[in-house]
Amino acid sequence: MRHFAVVGSGPAGFYTAEALEKAYGDQARIDILDRYPVPYGLIRFGVAPDHQSLKAVSKRYDKVAESAGVDFIGNVTVGADISVADLLDLYDAVILATGAPHDRKLGIPGEDLPGVIGSAEFVGWYNGHPEFADLDPFLDGTHAVVVGAGNVALDCARILSKTRHEFEGSDIVGHALDALDHSAIRTITILGRRGPHQVAMTPKELGELGHLEDAVPVVEPADFPPIEADEPLEPGLRKSVTLLRGFADLPQDKAKHMVFDFFAKPLRAEGDGKVERIIVERTELDEKGSARGTGDTYEVPASLVITAIGYSTSPIPDVPFEGGKFVNENGRIADRLYAVGWARRGPTGTIGTNRPDGYDVAEQIAASLPAQGSGDREGASGLKRLLESRGVMPTDYDDWRKIEETEVGNARPGSPREKFVRHQDWLQVLGR
Ligand SMILES: Cc1cc2nc3c(=O)[nH]c(=O)nc-3n(C[C@H](O)[C@H](O)[C@H](O)COP(=O)(O)OP(=O)(O)OC[C@H]3O[C@@H](n4cnc5c(N)ncnc54)[C@H](O)[C@@H]3O)c2cc1C
Repeated sequence: MRHFAVVGSGPAGFYTAEALEKAYGDQARIDILDRYPVPYGLIRFGVAPDHQSLKAVSKRYDKVAESAGVDFIGNVTVGADISVADLLDLYDAVILATGAPHDRKLGIPGEDLPGVIGSAEFVGWYNGHPEFADLDPFLDGTHAVVVGAGNVALDCARILSKTRHEFEGSDIVGHALDALDHSAIRTITILGRRGPHQVAMTPKELGELGHLEDAVPVVEPADFPPIEADEPLEPGLRKSVTLLRGFADLPQDKAKHMVFDFFAKPLRAEGDGKVERIIVERTELDEKGSARGTGDTYEVPASLVITAIGYSTSPIPDVPFEGGKFVNENGRIADRLYAVGWARRGPTGTIGTNRPDGYDVAEQIAASLPAQGSGDREGASGLKRLLESRGVMPTDYDDWRKIEETEVGNARPGSPREKFVRHQDWLQVLGR
């Protein structure tokens, strides 16, 4: 019997567990550990609450968690409650699927002013992440700026634009819904350092913007190259650019505007005690397609600035780390130690991109560790004994179901599901 520890219960962790189960059948026990008693990582805390069909991917992970060879062990932080070396003693292989939860910094003066926040914080706030429940983003001013040209930037801008009514059927947390309902923000400027041909925004996310109840996207036609230049683009990007071009024809008759400001590089954030504006430099593309400053600057008013320019992984003691992720070669970090998902590749791709990652690492493990193990690793029983000796109380999958059922049962009529937003609330539901 082999014992495997997958650290992190987001998509990468679940796809890896699924692949290991397929590879080893009943010859392996797979424990999926997470620092929280609630699984699914960014499916719960990242993916937008108004994209419920995407969040439904967790149903597939439920099946994995419920299968005979897999256990979910929550409320355990690897690197704090237990070390990777401890896990390597107890398990045949350890797979780090810890994601990339920290916002990359812009690295500009004024970035630390109140009112400048990262998308992980803002997204965590509206999705009920316990670390960001008290964020209280500034929604009293009329202008917000979102920095970034990807789907996370679009998520942030869209959430700021929607009406209360448009959140029906979502699982946005109550505190965010109420705050957004009273928001004074009327203009959301999306700053992209390069042009429409360089966006990492996908058609589905862009397409939604043309149909918002109270907000309309705004583009500057002069930012686009001649239409023939769209021809050689990869089909998905071409579709995105076509959608962006189409925004120029929309009637500007709604209360809120989502302004796409391309070729715009933030130089500094300014304000008296809190952010009031961003100073931006106009850019152009150089020969390599990178953004080059032109020296022309202008200011964009902003009482709230959200940066959405990427994420980095949390280091774990004694695991080699560089450039915001674990140092690895095709997922292998060291003997019997692997990384998958964002902790392996960095924060790119969709939920589905994590699947081949997990399957690839499971294949490598199966190739190096035959099903008939030496039998001297203890796996979960040893882990639980060690945790108990350290006063750590792990939770299991039934505990998660109890939390989930309580959350669903807490929904007020006509309101989204009331997610618990504090670690102690989860533990309280479990009577701990
Ligand atoms: C705002 C946002 C919106 C997104 N929207 C979409 C979308 O609409 N569609 C789409 O396809 N993709 C979307 N993505 C991308 C998708 O969420 C990622 O591809 C995916 O979640 C990465 O999976 P992961 O398992 O590597 O990391 P995560 O999902 O982050 O999972 C990591 C897990 O590890 C746990 N963990 C971390 N450190 C430790 C530790 N030390 N000990 C124990 N556990 C730990 C965390 O609690 C978490 O559960 C979005 C991403 C973001 C940020």
